[in-house]
Amino acid sequence: MENPYQPYVASDDIDPSYEAEYRQVMANLNSFVGGYSGFVTLIFSTPENSSSVFEALKPFVEMGHSGALEQNCLGSVGDPPNKFGICLNEEQWYFYTGREPSETSLADSRVDVYTGIAHEYFHWFQNNMAGQKHLDYQQEPSVMAPTWWVEGTADLFSFLWLKENAAKFAVFQGGIPPRVEDRISPLFTSWNVDMYLKTCGDPDLNTGERYDTETSCSPSPWLAVAHLASLSSYQSVFVDIPRDFREMDFAGAFEKNIGMTVEGFYFEHHSWLKSLTGPAAESDISDVFPSGSLSAEVKFPGT
Ligand SMILES: [Zn+2]
Repeated sequence: MENPYQPYVASDDIDPSYEAEYRQVMANLNSFVGGYSGFVTLIFSTPENSSSVFEALKPFVEMGHSGALEQNCLGSVGDPPNKFGICLNEEQWYFYTGREPSETSLADSRVDVYTGIAHEYFHWFQNNMAGQKHLDYQQEPSVMAPTWWVEGTADLFSFLWLKENAAKFAVFQGGIPPRVEDRISPLFTSWNVDMYLKTCGDPDLNTGERYDTETSCSPSPWLAVAHLASLSSYQSVFVDIPRDFREMDFAGAFEKNIGMTVEGFYFEHHSWLKSLTGPAAESDISDVFPSGSLSAEVKFPGT
């Protein structure tokens, strides 16, 4: 869509110049993933300074939003074509993910801000692909996408998107923080897998099917998604499954595009994680990430 409706409202005490920066990130995402209307970004601080945010929330309260100023991204309200994805952010959390502002540089903190926007906007793309249905078990009717896929694709998308696009943003002109690369570094990932296998031993993606069944021993969703893409393609995992799940729900779209059942993949992933030990682990992990840019692997509809 040429000019998607994507309102942005922030509290009075939030630097007004941030909106232009936010709009640049969204312009990049709209051309990368496609422009989807109804993505609403609200940033609140104290109740006294947040009257514009309360005002912006009013129409959505009538549609079922609680209206409370609490960190909640990305709740959806309404039915298509009047469906909205509301990203309601607490200022400190939005800009610093709970860290002390003095402990981080602007560029470093913007890595989290930009990947956060990309993550949530990717959920909005998934939501739009689901059409009249909802994404997961929390609301009916639903395509019943499991949490590990919903979150794993949004995480991995945000890392790969920023890696490809960071150089285009003004805040990174002084250098791209190492954390942009580290997010998908095979070395960091293999340490995590190693630690995880030592602690948990028996990885089972079933535990990551719902937000309320996830445990500290549910496998890392974005690594599961990367592994899944290596068994099929990034196009299948990021685009073809959501393109088809409106018609055939997640399980059907998965089987059609991956060539195995969801349970079959759990079995494969389980064995693969357990095989990631020793010196070969790093290169095995490196193999599941795209060797070049994400845009070379994936063509999004509407772009
Ligand atoms: Zn998410």
